Amino acid sequence: MTRHFNFCAGPAAMPTAVLDRARSEMKDYRGYGLSVMEMSHRSSEFIAIAEQAEQDLRELLAIPDNYRVLFTQGGATLQFSAVPYNLLGQGGTANFLDTGIWSRKAIDEARHLFGAAYVAASSEADSHRVLPRQEDIVLSEDAAYLHYTANETIGGLEFDYIPRAVHPDGREVPLVCDMSSSMLSGPLDVSRFGIIYAGAQKNIGPAGLVVVIVRDDLLHQACAGMPSLLGYQALAKGGSMVNTPATYSWYLAGLVFQWLKHDVGGLEAMDAINTRKAEMLYSAIDNSALYSNPIAPQNRSRMNVPFVLADERLDSLFLQEAEAAGLLNLKGHRSVGGMRASIYNAVSEQAVDALISFMADFEQRRG
Ligand code: PMP
Repeated sequence: MTRHFNFCAGPAAMPTAVLDRARSEMKDYRGYGLSVMEMSHRSSEFIAIAEQAEQDLRELLAIPDNYRVLFTQGGATLQFSAVPYNLLGQGGTANFLDTGIWSRKAIDEARHLFGAAYVAASSEADSHRVLPRQEDIVLSEDAAYLHYTANETIGGLEFDYIPRAVHPDGREVPLVCDMSSSMLSGPLDVSRFGIIYAGAQKNIGPAGLVVVIVRDDLLHQACAGMPSLLGYQALAKGGSMVNTPATYSWYLAGLVFQWLKHDVGGLEAMDAINTRKAEMLYSAIDNSALYSNPIAPQNRSRMNVPFVLADERLDSLFLQEAEAAGLLNLKGHRSVGGMRASIYNAVSEQAVDALISFMADFEQRRG
């Protein structure tokens, strides 16, 4: 059996150790005589798995006690609806940082549901190649919260700071972050946020699961008449088991948290590895005549590295040869073209080394 190097943006590479562990427990979970897939979500065995996963995530991110952790469904996309429904019950307008395709989708959904969404800063004039600085962010008078996308998965931009959501009258409003493609890539000060959410299928586990971290005081601002399954308060009260949760994805996420704690050695260690991988790849791109990346250096994503070839007629050959060399899923998003290497937590330094060697070799032969 060969495992290729997978640079997919999501669903993304899983740690091999996690897959091995899941395989060994697949048919008989620790002597219970059944698979986790076959367990009732109400069983004591599954409740123990669920609680352990939450505890490990709390430990990894040092999540303060006044935050709830929810394991829900519907992808990060359903959070584009859930967040305004949960936060706009007392009126006001959702404010956003417009930084590319994913933030735009969140803006469009808030506008669709509530008729208004205010853009407090935008990088559109810079073709989304450099992110707004703190001083560029001006909230509306009626701002209820500020939403931003920590890492634009398609554009390949990542915030190098946590914005402050300061209302014109000086009050702070809750900061909401779509952290789908960067959560767990390094340590995080959760206390700076009102809500953090992330689709699992990058750094957390398989698709079908969404993690939401919400501050207690924000559980009481929901709109009347919203779909009950989207309500954070109900999810928090019901231990994220208002309906049948994505049990197997939840279990696998738990194994990923264990891997991060015990195999990697925590998020500081993960952070150092991720910085090394990204620096190596960007430096290979910057030092070549064939490849280039257009993003302002301080905003370059450590997780998603888009690059173009100087001659786009070489694109399909590049992808073909990469695949033959066991380097999969390097094609850029259909909306932007070019290439994209997603180098999430589970993509090893060895995988990045192999990609860099292939790129250099391709340039020498074809560039
Ligand atoms: N936000 C970001 C930053 C993403 O990268 C993605 C998916 N690539 C989404 C939201 C949407 O996630 P989902 O497909 O889980 O709804």
